[in-house]
Amino acid sequence: MIERLDSKEEVRQAVAEARHEGKTVGFVPTMGALHAGHLSLVQTARKRTDFVVVSVFVNPTQFGPGEDFAAYPRDLESDIELLEAEGVDLVFTPSVEEMYGPGAAGAAARTGSADTSALFTGASIDPGSLAERWEGEIRPGHFRGVATVVAKLLNILRPDLAFFGEKDYQQLVIVKRMVRDLDLPSLVVGCPIIRDADGLALSSRNAYLSPAERAAAMTLSRALDATAEVLAWGERSGQALSAVMRETVEAEDGAVLDYAAVVDPETLEPLEALTRTARALIAARIGPTRLIDTAALQPPPREEGA
Ligand code: AMP
Repeated sequence: MIERLDSKEEVRQAVAEARHEGKTVGFVPTMGALHAGHLSLVQTARKRTDFVVVSVFVNPTQFGPGEDFAAYPRDLESDIELLEAEGVDLVFTPSVEEMYGPGAAGAAARTGSADTSALFTGASIDPGSLAERWEGEIRPGHFRGVATVVAKLLNILRPDLAFFGEKDYQQLVIVKRMVRDLDLPSLVVGCPIIRDADGLALSSRNAYLSPAERAAAMTLSRALDATAEVLAWGERSGQALSAVMRETVEAEDGAVLDYAAVVDPETLEPLEALTRTARALIAARIGPTRLIDTAALQPPPREEGA
């Protein structure tokens, strides 16, 4: 039977009991509205650890003014059913007050029109320079909110392994770096992206898309595929490869590109030339919905004598 707990103290106790029984602890943080992408993380956690905890918490501090905090899809009952079917031991569903203290829920309700930093009246995590580019540039404060809530969750649970999707690649890199820099006692495990049959990366925000927008959203994965193809033909220039992504998205009337970049997989700095595995990052707006996608770019080995 899955157990659902809302309080940090009870969760700490439940995890301590599991540890006392000699179990390893795996953790998958989510914002709910679960889909097969989330469940793949849960399945990996189930395989690799004895006691699996999933958090469902729509974290207000990672939403900027005018973003979709209030509208973000929420379906806790269905989420718990899905998690139970995956054999999850514990689902942690804290309230905003439980996570951020008395009065936080009122401030969170005002996000969307106000400044989310009102929620940070005390300490928070500065995620450093990795958070300045790409998503961080378009969503100021987003990664401060992510880093802070992840640090809090890792402190509450102290899991052996914590599972994050490559779907949010910049987030994964930032969380890995934070865990290292702050000596948090967990290992961060990156998990591959799960896609619909036609290639669209699964996302809770896909629920916002109309059928026409759903069709336009395909431009993200198409852009990544086009870049991988040009790379396979022998193109090595980071600028040329990102231009392929940009042009693919620009050819789609229903999409507006935020960025398309080919970057170093650890520093996230743009690459001039691909000499080893790189990362393609792409973000676009499809009507009012922002979507992101990413792929590893593996340059083919140069032919002998070429
Ligand atoms: P979210 O609920 O959007 O905060 O996502 C929770 C976790 O699920 C994050 O680590 C995401 O990167 C991961 N995730 C979201 N979508 C996918 C996907 N399509 N495939 C794999 N992991 C995903």
